[in-house]
Amino acid sequence: MSKPCPFCNSLDLGVSRLDGDREGYPTQVLCYNCGCNGPWVYLKYVADRSCLEHVCELTGWNKRGE
Ligand SMILES: [Zn+2]
Repeated sequence: MSKPCPFCNSLDLGVSRLDGDREGYPTQVLCYNCGCNGPWVYLKYVADRSCLEHVCELTGWNKRGE
């Protein structure tokens, strides 16, 4: 399970990404409630919300606020 936002405790989280290049797609966890976001991670594939848990793990989102 992904943890709630460390700032506002919301579970309304999503995945945002920038345009990819040869290296992959810069991807991060995003909180729709307060607008904060987590560290970027470079993925080789296009992540969407179904990858949220995975992106949380990769970026250490779950460790924020602990
Ligand atoms: Zn938040």
